[in-house]
Amino acid sequence: MKTLKNVTCALLCTLILYACSDTNEVEPDADPIADEAVDENTDDEAPEEGAKTASLLVFTKTKGFRHGSIEKGVATLVELGENNDFTISETDDATDFNTENLEQYQGVVFLSTTGDVLTNGQQLAFERYIQNGGSFMGIHSATDTEYDWPWYGQLVGAYFNGHPSIQDASITVSNDKHPATAHLQNTWERKDEWYNFKDINPAILVLLNLDEDSYDGGTNGPNHPIAWYHDFDGGRSFYTAGGHTEASFEEPDFKQHLLGGINYCLGRE
Ligand SMILES: [Zn+2]
Repeated sequence: MKTLKNVTCALLCTLILYACSDTNEVEPDADPIADEAVDENTDDEAPEEGAKTASLLVFTKTKGFRHGSIEKGVATLVELGENNDFTISETDDATDFNTENLEQYQGVVFLSTTGDVLTNGQQLAFERYIQNGGSFMGIHSATDTEYDWPWYGQLVGAYFNGHPSIQDASITVSNDKHPATAHLQNTWERKDEWYNFKDINPAILVLLNLDEDSYDGGTNGPNHPIAWYHDFDGGRSFYTAGGHTEASFEEPDFKQHLLGGINYCLGRE
């Protein structure tokens, strides 16, 4: 009988250990590299907020234009996470925007989303997530998303208002104390698709300003923010308009800029 008990206990322990080893796995089809990073930390006791490894949900659903750079962007975020103690779960499934799922993440990234991607219920779940201290990072066409959801417009900080062709431009660093810009010189020259904006939230704190004299097709004038952050409705928001091209995600300075945005979102400044 005692032997049977021991065998039962051993089986149970094995099952429990097996179950525990999967607690951080949020998506069965998540990137295997990301899963590996998570598995390294399964020895940690009761991971909680502020623990070493953070989890980010990267949302890539598009209802309008779909950028060819999305996959490269996801791979870049995964790589940054491997070296900087966070893991990435990519999804284009809007049903992941429910309270139970979102509360697993320390940040949610809209990576070149476009159009009307969330239902009203999913929008409410995301509003609650931010109001409970969550964080949001928008990349490129995150501002070309959800025009009929004013709360989102305030969160992301502006809406897309057209762009000229891809070209080189000069960017002025407005704030060199932020983790997303501290690595840059006063002027940053790079090539991308440069967005014009409308409905700019006056509360955004500008990190980078585009010099419209340095390229053709700017319509915002001397105040043309191109990356910013702000506290919003209980949470944090960071946005950068770069990232149209795959090449953007190969640029060391742009990658450091993205990492700084993530660190801000995670409260790691
Ligand atoms: Zn674009």
